[in-house]
Amino acid sequence: MATEQYEHQVVVLGAGYTGLMAALRVARKGRRLGAKVVLVNPSDRFVERLRMHQIAAGEELEHYSISEMVADTGIEFVRGFATRIAPELQNVVVEENGGRRVVPYDYLVYAIGSGANIRTVPGADLHAYTLDSPQSARRFARRLTDLQDHGAVAVCGNGLTGIEAAAEVAESFPSLHVSLIGREEPGVMMGPKARRYLHATLERLGIDVLTGATVTKVLPEAVELNSDGAVPTDVCLWTTGFWASDLAKTAAVQVDDRDRIIVDGSLRSVSHPQIFAVGDAAAVRQPWGEIHGTCQSGIPTAVHAADSCIRLIKNKNPKRFRFGYIHQPVSLGRKDGVIQFAKPDDTPRKLYLKGKRAARYKEFVSSSPPKFYRLARRFPIPRALVVPKGGRATRRNRVPAAVS
Ligand SMILES: Cc1cc2nc3c(=O)[nH]c(=O)nc-3n(C[C@H](O)[C@H](O)[C@H](O)COP(=O)(O)OP(=O)(O)OC[C@H]3O[C@@H](n4cnc5c(N)ncnc54)[C@H](O)[C@@H]3O)c2cc1C
Repeated sequence: MATEQYEHQVVVLGAGYTGLMAALRVARKGRRLGAKVVLVNPSDRFVERLRMHQIAAGEELEHYSISEMVADTGIEFVRGFATRIAPELQNVVVEENGGRRVVPYDYLVYAIGSGANIRTVPGADLHAYTLDSPQSARRFARRLTDLQDHGAVAVCGNGLTGIEAAAEVAESFPSLHVSLIGREEPGVMMGPKARRYLHATLERLGIDVLTGATVTKVLPEAVELNSDGAVPTDVCLWTTGFWASDLAKTAAVQVDDRDRIIVDGSLRSVSHPQIFAVGDAAAVRQPWGEIHGTCQSGIPTAVHAADSCIRLIKNKNPKRFRFGYIHQPVSLGRKDGVIQFAKPDDTPRKLYLKGKRAARYKEFVSSSPPKFYRLARRFPIPRALVVPKGGRATRRNRVPAAVS
């Protein structure tokens, strides 16, 4: 399958947090082995998805250009959108600039992320805003500004994304009424002290927290709940869960019920071993349970997939992926936050941070990836620095082969 000048071609789909990391690492380690990397992404802008709630509150973010970030690495950056994978031919169809191009691969790293799940609740696709892209976050911010200091905002979904968004909006638009709606109490995965701090901060920001509620319908001027009638709202933000694209599914690559590629212990697709899946688009299991979509876990999957491509190129078998969480960092506006330190299986430790120190910690976490990419371009980043292996929690011999 290799192209004329190169012995091996590794194609990386998606240049978000994981794809960029995977591409830079394969390029750095694979150059001397005759490996070429093609990186495909629809836009030249690297999207800091971790900061979409800041755009939603009207902030403009720093602009990072992907072509500049991969300059002088040997990576071919293709600005386009992958519309079809043909695993039997080992190629990908990419739509670029009104044209289309077929890109062959020896190994494919599938890193196309996920989007808000607006498919299951009626009206969410028509009336709710999402934080899927800077454009959608900006549209939401414009709508908030249009409300001119009076109006109601419903943030549906009170996981970490919903909490961060609600806090950011309440801080930046203090005269709007913000509701945070979800089934469980916010911060349910945190320890009691961190959770108490979180709740006190939501209260301080004037956020109305509705728990035990499932949104059953989104209307232009309200969200309907299973429990309590309807909540009148001028604008609804949807953060209830994430779904991967159906690109892999339509290629008959085995996926789970959220269309994420089911991978084996080394992150290769269980149906098509030439394909690695990483980040939000992968269904990854560890001995302690299933990884959930975060940058914290995604970047290690990218590092592992890159190292595995290199091992395969060297005719070695990929190693088993091992990962454990270290923290649950949550911003609560620009000056406040709460960080729950976690055991490898993401259950809370005793230690937590709050207030300004937590805000500074979170800012450090959010600003780290672009710095890492700059380093990864020039130096071989030691794996131990970016992949917390999870110690005993992942040392068990028996690894579930795949997520069902
Ligand atoms: C508001 C918000 C706050 C968050 N906060 C945190 C946090 O504090 N900590 C944390 O760990 N995680 C956080 N997350 C989750 C984190 O952002 C994701 O887990 C992370 O972005 C996943 O990285 P990824 O590379 O898989 O996907 P992404 O970073 O989303 O990158 C996917 C890339 O693929 C591209 N793409 C999509 N389709 C195609 C295609 N067909 N062809 C080519 N390219 C394609 C996209 O344009 C994008 O550039 C947050 C998410 C949100 C929305």
